[in-house]
Amino acid sequence: MTGDRIAALLPRGAGHADQIIDATGQHLLPGAIDIHFHIRAPAYPDRGTVETETRAAAAGGITTLFEMPITKPCCNTADRVNFRREHFQQHAFINFGLYAAPGDLGDQSVASMAAAGIVGFKIFTTPAPEGRNDEFEGLSFPDEADQLQALKAAARTGLPIVVHAESAQLLAIGERAALQMDLADPDSHLVARPAICEAVAVAKLLAMNIEARAKLHIAHVTSALTVAVLRHFAGTSDFSAETCPHYLFRTHQDVARAGVFAKINPPVRTQADQDALWSALADGTIQHVTTDHAAFSHAEKMASAHSFLEAPPGTPGSEVLVPAMLDAAAKGRIGLERAWALLSGNAAQRFQLSDKGRIEPGADADLTLVDTAQTTTITAETLHSFARDVAHLYYGAQFTGRVMRTLVAGRTVFDGNVVGEPGWGKYTKPLLNSAPINAAKLSA
Ligand SMILES: [Zn+2]
Repeated sequence: MTGDRIAALLPRGAGHADQIIDATGQHLLPGAIDIHFHIRAPAYPDRGTVETETRAAAAGGITTLFEMPITKPCCNTADRVNFRREHFQQHAFINFGLYAAPGDLGDQSVASMAAAGIVGFKIFTTPAPEGRNDEFEGLSFPDEADQLQALKAAARTGLPIVVHAESAQLLAIGERAALQMDLADPDSHLVARPAICEAVAVAKLLAMNIEARAKLHIAHVTSALTVAVLRHFAGTSDFSAETCPHYLFRTHQDVARAGVFAKINPPVRTQADQDALWSALADGTIQHVTTDHAAFSHAEKMASAHSFLEAPPGTPGSEVLVPAMLDAAAKGRIGLERAWALLSGNAAQRFQLSDKGRIEPGADADLTLVDTAQTTTITAETLHSFARDVAHLYYGAQFTGRVMRTLVAGRTVFDGNVVGEPGWGKYTKPLLNSAPINAAKLSA
């Protein structure tokens, strides 16, 4: 490596280096790129900060994360993108990209956010959760006409648009049904947000995208039904999809044990759903595995410990993603190469990070060293995330596979301990923005 780049790939013993890292018996992989992460900073420091959560990501073998726009106020203008960029730049241990909400959907503001170097747009098809309007302003579009307009606006920038897809109408019906139940019963969460709710929203978006021609990305797919919809629409437009470790390694039974600490939207479902997700990874229907890392404080989860409807949705995943996927490879559920494409190479391609996701001369020296024989045990004590005391869904989990070292821009940031420093991480922009945006195309 020279500076922050890979200089050359040489046979053992060849060449000269100032520093030599002994990685005997380990796998050297392009750094994991987590395209779905929630820190929310600088808002809500009581749920963790850029420093705590990027340290946790470094410990998890992640070299670049994409931060979602939910913050207070919502990241929905170029000024707010720039403000967050500066905040993250001062504190991040690893590289970061920023999503923005498309805001007022106006061509001017959408184009200016693209010009600010965002990695993509994010929208929800569900209304803002009660009392959180300012966090979701210009981000929640339950109206289908607005969804179509958002896809078209994103298409004009050439950037991907990521969608949290659940039907607002079916969700309203599901929540009414759940209200007839004991809300401390974990089953009430499945009744409130059934798989059909997700599948219908995804089907509508994929139909819209035939016309809108956006680079559409479906966030956190949870169900066999949605996998069937994705397959049905294959080839009709440019779309991709992700799922997360909680849907791949946990079922509703685990949620029932962990209580509201494991409340996640959309919910973790059945073994049959989990099996369908693995088959979707195997045949390429789903191309990404992400953390959807979302830390809440213990007090916040406890405040609604008796209501799956009211408990805040999300669980920390930064230190689970890589060990869990290594474990799947160790058990023969998936090849190591494909597992790693789901964590790195596919993200670099989809989000146009041409210098990441590969180990070649000239590429960014973002690297993850793993030992596929060693184990990782998840406990509140081993986790670095501020949310280590709400990670109930994973407590006691033992994965075969361990992150040994994480390098960001040529420098070790984790070697068993976090040894990086705040501000080392770089703002990650898609290649698209290195060329001037075509104004004529934008106003078309
Ligand atoms: Zn999310």
